[in-house]
Amino acid sequence: MKQEILDYLRDYDGEEVRIMEVCGTHTASISHTGIRKLLSPKIKLISGPGCPVCVTVTSYIDRCIEIAKMEEHVLVSFGDMLRVPGSKGSLRDAGADGAKVQMVYSPLDTLKLCEKHPETTYVFAAVGFETTTPIYAVLLQKAEEKKITNLKLLTSLKVMPPVISWVCENQHNVDGFLAPGHVSVITGSELFVPLAQRFDLPFVVSGFEAEELLASIYALVRLKGQGKVMNLYPSVVTKEGNTEAQALVNRYFEPGAATWRGMGSIPDSGMYLRPDYEKYDMGSRALDQDNVHNKACQCAKVLTGQIESKECPLFGTVCTVEHPQGACMVSGEGACFTALTSEA
Ligand code: SF4
Repeated sequence: MKQEILDYLRDYDGEEVRIMEVCGTHTASISHTGIRKLLSPKIKLISGPGCPVCVTVTSYIDRCIEIAKMEEHVLVSFGDMLRVPGSKGSLRDAGADGAKVQMVYSPLDTLKLCEKHPETTYVFAAVGFETTTPIYAVLLQKAEEKKITNLKLLTSLKVMPPVISWVCENQHNVDGFLAPGHVSVITGSELFVPLAQRFDLPFVVSGFEAEELLASIYALVRLKGQGKVMNLYPSVVTKEGNTEAQALVNRYFEPGAATWRGMGSIPDSGMYLRPDYEKYDMGSRALDQDNVHNKACQCAKVLTGQIESKECPLFGTVCTVEHPQGACMVSGEGACFTALTSEA
């Protein structure tokens, strides 16, 4: 890292610049590397809706729990999802009460379960952004090849551009975006050009190391007010992205409205199984309630950059990593989790 960049970011004394990251891994990297301490107080880093578990609505968790209690059904999920509070507890609580919940490390592990227990329907809680959706497409492709009939998905899949538009239209407090590195690997950096031009805001595709983040923040401060896209993660991100993965996703999924925690329903911000593959769907389009577990939880404001986690009255007291009151305290990519754990 050039000393002049570090000096510039430390001594910056121009108009305040508010930079939003919309990637959970960026949120975690920013907290763990402590780079906020290297920035002028006039450069603010704010977290946006970049953690897939955090933006998933409570009714989705409730539906997962209902499924886990159904005869001959098992709900399959990543570990993070088990701890997210639904309106009446989490999947982990439900599992302790006898509901059938199976944690896996990869969605593809579900195939072995399906083959081993053909009498049981395995329902995968398919949550994620553009980064994760291709693996669900691979899962379906393999299920077709193996003629597996006891697999279903309950999807809560989302895409980035509509929610970034929502933030720009509703918040008016963002001067630039750290564009998500992992998502950009799949989508390509060109995805952000229409957004940059429409809102006259810079987008910089960034890597995850401290030096990469600092270089991206420097670029965003310098580009303030300009509708430009810059790719500072060229080792893995191209303009057009991974076209093979995009084609596989489009074979199985199509866009539709999705409900985001704190933002409501946003047109075309979700991905749903196409009618041809309805047999794999566990009723994903019916989920739209954002009925929170603890009414004092401020996740909605945290996810939209209106407040920092520490401004939530429950932060670190009632709401802790051991006893999370909202989704943002559960995931390792959640703003509240990373804020609390980086304090320790
Ligand atoms: Fe919700 Fe806990 Fe974050 Fe407050 S600290 S916004 S209760 S997750």
